Amino acid sequence: DPPATRADSLARLESLDQPVPAVQVCVRLRPLLPWERSEGYGPSAMNLIQGDKEGNDSSISLKEDGRTRHFRFNAVISPDCTQQEAWDMSGIEAVVNKVALGFHATVFAYGQTGTGKTHTMEGYLYEHHNGSAAPSISAARPRVKARSTPPEQLGMVPRAVMALFDRVEAIRAKEALGANACVVRVSFLQIYNEKVFDLLNPSLSVSQREAGGRGEDFSGLRMRWDALKRHFFVENLFQNECNSADEALQYYQAGIANKHVASTAMNVASSRSHTVLVLTLLRREGMPGDDGTPEPFREVVSQLSLVDLAGSERTVSTVASTSGKSSTRFQEAVNVNQSLFVLRRVITALSKKDSKGNDASGHVPYRESKLTSLLQNSLGGSSYLIMFACLAATDRHDDENLSTLQYASQAASIKNQPQVNIDPKDRAIQQLQAKLGAAHRYLLRA
Ligand code: ADP
Ligand code: MG
Repeated sequence: DPPATRADSLARLESLDQPVPAVQVCVRLRPLLPWERSEGYGPSAMNLIQGDKEGNDSSISLKEDGRTRHFRFNAVISPDCTQQEAWDMSGIEAVVNKVALGFHATVFAYGQTGTGKTHTMEGYLYEHHNGSAAPSISAARPRVKARSTPPEQLGMVPRAVMALFDRVEAIRAKEALGANACVVRVSFLQIYNEKVFDLLNPSLSVSQREAGGRGEDFSGLRMRWDALKRHFFVENLFQNECNSADEALQYYQAGIANKHVASTAMNVASSRSHTVLVLTLLRREGMPGDDGTPEPFREVVSQLSLVDLAGSERTVSTVASTSGKSSTRFQEAVNVNQSLFVLRRVITALSKKDSKGNDASGHVPYRESKLTSLLQNSLGGSSYLIMFACLAATDRHDDENLSTLQYASQAASIKNQPQVNIDPKDRAIQQLQAKLGAAHRYLLRA
């Protein structure tokens, strides 16, 4: 590497360990689109007033039936903000640093279809078939074009991937660790109809989806509980080891393409599924023993999960009335709502807990959907969390905007307690060693 670059990343590494709020909520407003203007839609009737572009004012006000309501967030990203400005204001970079240090983190985008979730997470590079058209659930064949895109157009996911690899490089350089002592793996899944599909294993996914499209009972990949690490994981999900950001982004892009191909195969809109890109960082650290030898190792496993949620609009009634209760499409709307419905209930339940984590509302229903099972640790757990609440400041979105702001403000009150994730076996060994050390010192004194 040129010395300047190396020095840069080392400088960034030095600044890694700064205090970061455990839970952050950013509101992102998108502008009125040309087709909306030409079809006569106007600006929001609710008079959404966003903070200034520098992020000095992170409040948003909303007029509803003559009353004005104020919401306050970590950032409000205005419609004219670039992706770079969104990245800077959201605080993701500091959270990616935490992942490099061994913490879990989740970034997710929430909002009605068409409010900019995919724009925020993926960015311009990956917008293919319905870039400027109204959302539709037609079976139009997607045209997947990998455009070579100016880097300023990239969304939060590719930026986060690049930032994480930058930190990994710096860690390797600083600690003179071999490549296999600091490994990054990428997996990419989709939750559709409460079924989990592997976006990086297309042959499996597409045939499975086609079976599902014919009404055959296919259950998707299984989720299992890891009792030792105390979290759910997806069984048989591909995990691809990547040596560079470029390599990881190639997997990401392939997965996005699979998402669109599979949606077409099943005649459904991708806006009805949730996608989760997971970057897993495995770091083996030598701990200096009494005589300074770097044995034994401890393994730190941290994950960065980047989630593009299904549209949060309520679709059940419209869908049911047009296609009948027994149809596949009705099932789909109910089940998509199952994951989002449970996500909302989890958010609401957690927002009622007090600062000591005491449960004012009773049970938190994590296990009632695939999505919340997977994100259990991110919501009310030991992860860092960033929520992008996406709003379109147009009159056709007003009803849902209010609902989005309400969930966003509940999410902002969730209490997480981030902690470094040492492999439970290694943690047990460490505790034993500490006890042995204490016993040893006691014997020496005696
Ligand atoms: P969602 O994923 O929430 O359904 P999209 O990300 O697909 O929404 O956005 C819907 C449309 O709005 C797309 O055409 C997208 O290009 C456009 N859009 C979203 N956010 C912005 C923005 N900040 N600036 C310009 N256009 C945007
Ligand atoms: Mg989308």
